[in-house]
Order: sequence, then structure tokens, then C-alpha cells
Amino acid sequence: MVEAETRGPEPAYTESDFLRLCRRRAWLATAAAGAGTVAVAVVGRRLRAGWVVPASAATVAVLTAVQGPFGNRIWGDRRPDSCPALQRGVDRLARRVGIDSPTVVAVPLMPVDWAGALVWPVRRIYLRESVVPAAGEPVAGWLAGAVVHEMGHHVLAKETAINLLVGRAVVLVPVLAVGTGSVRRWALLSGAAVGLALLPGLWGTRWVERGADEFVRLLGYGYAAAVADSMARREEARSRAPRSWRTSAQWRPPVLRTHPTDAERMARLRSADGNPGRP
Ligand SMILES: [Zn+2]
Repeated sequence: MVEAETRGPEPAYTESDFLRLCRRRAWLATAAAGAGTVAVAVVGRRLRAGWVVPASAATVAVLTAVQGPFGNRIWGDRRPDSCPALQRGVDRLARRVGIDSPTVVAVPLMPVDWAGALVWPVRRIYLRESVVPAAGEPVAGWLAGAVVHEMGHHVLAKETAINLLVGRAVVLVPVLAVGTGSVRRWALLSGAAVGLALLPGLWGTRWVERGADEFVRLLGYGYAAAVADSMARREEARSRAPRSWRTSAQWRPPVLRTHPTDAERMARLRSADGNPGRP
């Protein structure tokens, strides 16, 4: 990211046919998930459990809304001292693509190398604290690539946020429906929630993820290859893991995944970068 700033004029990297397709599919999926949520609510009312869907939707909205401010309480809003090099790169990239810059927050006690984006109500990029480079140390290519992918979520902020709020509104229905005290009601409500709302929501989540990857690819400078390489390393580590771990990491059928398969993502990320050059 740091180097991206110093190069000459760049082609637009927030516009491509594929990125437009990702946005359209994400909105279509959200509309389908929204209609599905209404249908699940109707099922709930028919079953005299009309409170279940509104309670799930409200809880998801509240948890999302307090996540940023609550996270700040726990982890501290460490800008600008915890990740200055990354924060500067993120600020510059945000200016280039015309969005408000997210704050990079290092999260302690994170068990895996992980980066995540929160786009609403505050803009954040979360990183595992142990991967943040020390002052003066260069930012590793894979980490820069991961941060650029999270920036893709901020470029697709509306799609990312609406997918989370509408696409997952009924995610707590299987838990809350236990409170109806009837196995039949629980089964009907949970089945409707998964089939009518959660599956279309996840379909949209995968299109949002494809869009964030497409932003990485369009930006270029080798970030897409860096992300693909880190996925290849993850696959390699998984293939060496004990069989039971391997299956638990890979059992999920594609329709239940939040991300497209690594194979699909790597193939797309390794197709030509928008800007040649090295990260
Ligand atoms: Zn993502």
C-alpha cells in the first residue's frame, strides 16, 4: 500500500464488469434474503411465535451496532500508535478510492492470523496483534494483501453492511425458537430461516467476498498474488494437518460457506493484476 501511493497515474480500480456483477448479485441476494425474512416472520406468526424473527433481527442489529464502540472499550482505539505503517497506507488508499479511512485496530488474543472489516456504524480493519509489524519493520506482502482485501469491503461498504444486517437477520432464529417450547415449531421456524433467508444471504456474502477480491486484483501491484500465495500456504498447512482436522476445515458444502472456495479465489486472484509491479 505504501508503494502504491508513490507510483504514477493509475487506472480506475473501483470499476470493472466483474465488480459491477458482484455488486448486482450482492443486492439481488439481499433482496431475496429480505423477502425470505418476511416469509419466515409470516411462518412465525402462523405458529403463534411472532416474536422470534423480530427478536433475532433486533439482536443482530444491536450486536453489529455496538461491536465497534464496544471493541474500542476492550481493545482500545489504538490509532495511530499500534500500526502506523499500515494506517498510513490505509489512509492513502482510502483517499485514492474516495472513502472515509477505516481505523486499523490490533486485536490481542486472536488465535489465528486473521483480518476483518467492520464497515458500520464505524469503519475498522481488525488485525491479530501478533502480525502487526514493529516500528520500522516492513509490512509483509501477505498482510498488505489481506488489508487490501478488507479495504475492498470498505469500497463495497453498502453491500457488506446490508448483507450482514439483512442477510443474517434470522441467524438467531434456531436459538431463539427453542423458547417456543415446541419441537415442531422449532423445526419449522429453523428450516424456514435457513432455507428462505440464510442461504440467499450467504449467496450474497460470497458475492461480496468476490467483490473484495476483485478490488485487490484491480488495484494490482502484486497484492492479489500475495493473497493467493497466503491461501496456497493455508491449503498446504491443511493438507499436512491430521485427517480429522482436515475434514472439519473442509466438510462444509459451498452453499453453506461465507467465502467462495480457495481454489476459485486463487484462480481469479492469479489472473492478471490491474497494475503490474511488486507489492
Ligand atoms: Zn472478506
